[in-house]
Amino acid sequence: MPIYVDPDICDNSKDCPAASYCVPLALEFDNEKGKIAYDKSKCKSCGTCVHHCGPGAIYLAKDDEELEMLVEELNKLKEMG
Ligand code: SF4
Repeated sequence: MPIYVDPDICDNSKDCPAASYCVPLALEFDNEKGKIAYDKSKCKSCGTCVHHCGPGAIYLAKDDEELEMLVEELNKLKEMG
């Protein structure tokens, strides 16, 4: 179950509570890039980050296929305004 962090919603806070609750450090503030970075290879698909993201930028999908569909739908909605 991979996650998707919507870049239009994520506030890229250094104090991101979702990242602070991510035990395997799959979500971390990247000091070089100045934004939140997600490392799928470290992600345990626990879903904890989804519940701790203040702005609601994180989506959890059951597999890569569902994640792809979800991102497509989100982008379509954005295009519609
Ligand atoms: S689903 Fe769990 S392991 Fe993956 S990024 Fe979120 S908190 Fe970290």
